[in-house]
Amino acid sequence: MTGRTDGSATGPRLRLNPIACDAHGLCADLLPEMITLDEWGYPIVDARPVPEHLLAHARRAVGACPTLALALAGRAAPSGVGGAARAQPVRQGGRPS
Ligand code: SF4
Repeated sequence: MTGRTDGSATGPRLRLNPIACDAHGLCADLLPEMITLDEWGYPIVDARPVPEHLLAHARRAVGACPTLALALAGRAAPSGVGGAARAQPVRQGGRPS
């Protein structure tokens, strides 16, 4: 069982696409407060809104998912993460404008 979170009633929620998930378990390592693994290694995601103090960890878990199975959806976070959005890699060698 995950630890209880003290999140607000609003805010983005974690969404899992179980078809895309390959049970890497990385998300549970990065956000154990809201994601646990079942006996086969598939994530069990807390459906409640992500509390403000866990948003950075949630974004990190979403960005680290190698199969794009995890997303933050709902009310947009201040950084614009929401819907099926995920962390974008930092581009190297970009041209100055
Ligand atoms: S990191 Fe992605 S693929 Fe791995 S268990 Fe979590 S949701 Fe599934």
